[in-house]
Amino acid sequence: MYRTHTCGELRKSDINSKVILAGWVQKVRNKGFMVWVDLRDRYGITQLIFDEERTAKDILDRAQNLGREFVIQIDGTVIERASKNPNIPTGDIEILVDKLTVLNESLLPPFTIEDETDGGDELRMKYRYLDIRRTPVRDSLIFRHKVAQEVRNYLSGQGFIEVETPYLIKSTPEGARDFIVPSRMNEGQFYALPQSPQTFKQLLMVAGMDKYFQIVKCFRDEDLRADRQPEFTQIDCEMAFVEQDDILNAFEGLTRHLLKTINGVDVGEFPRMTFDEAMERYGNDKPDIRFGMEFGNLNQVSQHKDFNVFNSAELVVGISVPGGNSFTRKQIDNLTNWVKRPQIGAKGLIYCRCNDDGTFKSSVDKFFDQADLKLWAEKTGAKPGDLIFVLSGSTEDVRSQMSALRMEIGERLELRNPDEFAPLWITDFPLLEWDEDAQSYHAMHHPFTSPQADQIELLNSDPGVVKANAYDLVLNGNEIGGGSIRIHDKETQALMFDRLGFSEAEAKAQFGFLMNAFEYGAPPHGGIAFGLDRLVAILGGQETIRDFIAFPKNNSGRDVMIDAPAPIDTKQLEELKLKLDL
Ligand code: ASP
Repeated sequence: MYRTHTCGELRKSDINSKVILAGWVQKVRNKGFMVWVDLRDRYGITQLIFDEERTAKDILDRAQNLGREFVIQIDGTVIERASKNPNIPTGDIEILVDKLTVLNESLLPPFTIEDETDGGDELRMKYRYLDIRRTPVRDSLIFRHKVAQEVRNYLSGQGFIEVETPYLIKSTPEGARDFIVPSRMNEGQFYALPQSPQTFKQLLMVAGMDKYFQIVKCFRDEDLRADRQPEFTQIDCEMAFVEQDDILNAFEGLTRHLLKTINGVDVGEFPRMTFDEAMERYGNDKPDIRFGMEFGNLNQVSQHKDFNVFNSAELVVGISVPGGNSFTRKQIDNLTNWVKRPQIGAKGLIYCRCNDDGTFKSSVDKFFDQADLKLWAEKTGAKPGDLIFVLSGSTEDVRSQMSALRMEIGERLELRNPDEFAPLWITDFPLLEWDEDAQSYHAMHHPFTSPQADQIELLNSDPGVVKANAYDLVLNGNEIGGGSIRIHDKETQALMFDRLGFSEAEAKAQFGFLMNAFEYGAPPHGGIAFGLDRLVAILGGQETIRDFIAFPKNNSGRDVMIDAPAPIDTKQLEELKLKLDL
């Protein structure tokens, strides 16, 4: 037997018991006549004691020579600790060791295996197996397991069946590039790894599976943005015989269950907001509604004077910063420079102080009088003591700039309460998005999303305005899930492919299997997918998803531990009949 107990288990009530423990040497404190070793495993830390009086000399000697991260096994007796450590559950006891076996030695780890480590990101990823020995990383993985387990429990309880779908498939468009796998047995042919199991889950609905879910890896070859992973995990779901409300209710239930069981938080009914409304009020389709600072449209109250910057703008928008009148000139300049950075791209930032006496002082006093500024305050909901910021330009630019500024100020003023969970459904997304570069429409969600029933006609006359039966679930300003009611008839699907610029032959080659399936009694259906990595990070109160992934890729999509991607040898290339022309 390697161990009778784990290193997190023994308590005062175990005093005098004979035990065997095994684990890693976290720390050795050597006073010569006395040696303490912190022994660590997944479950905790237990202190071992060796001393001149009670321990055999050869064992004391060997204890003195133990190195960090050696794997050892000990036999000993649980005794009461002289100086207790209230910070750890085993802090009342220690083990007086009478047998010590070194199971394996260890090189000196390249960073400290402590809660606060001295290792940088890349180094920690290179030695991820050591990083996972650290409590915060290990706990994050255990936390992830717990969330996944709750998802399975809840959905199974609601009658969902987890079905695995294949990884070696054909392109499923979700707006990214495919990762491609060459087929040795089918020369010159390739599989694509799924960007999502979208088409398969729809086929499962045609197959009568009714309520499907899967915790599943998805692969998207995108230019990596911060905190994106080329492979990531979804909680992928689909239901048949449902309307949008059925889906929203079902997955509101799941989210509420997770918030309750994982975070102990009760949230009421989730608010719902249309895409258009979100864009008008927050300039963003995933607004963080934990704080206000909603947009005030100032077009009517700012375009009647000689100020050309506003007059020539498509949109003039203001937000009111609570208590912002206390900002110094320097703070305002700093925010002005912040929005002028190329990443944000504003030309300037206009402000208006709302004084306690009800007067206003703006950076454009030359053009606007007190009565005008009062209207600005009304439109932005500003009160005495607040500060109004105003941006103008094209609707699209102004919304994204102001939304970024709102989030930045929210962050700086700590308005985003980390203990609060504010979910929000965004509905009625546009079906199509105009792609300037390609001069064509592409699907905002994916090509299988159904247009709203009363708008199908518009697909011919004015495709850009057509709304979809598509929705996102937003939590604290993060999109955690998205889905849609699907097209389930061949004609509409064909029309959609046509609008997206597929020729009939292309649509048939790529999605013939789905169109065929639709001819065999496809039920109305719809679904949603949650990004598990992000969901877990948010529930865990963290910003980065990487800490919740056992073996993440770095910012260039590399696994620095196994050193992938890597060249393959000539023999493999030959077998695959691939020629590299580098
Ligand atoms: N397949 C979609 C996605 O990955 C989710 C869905 O429509 O259910 O975003």
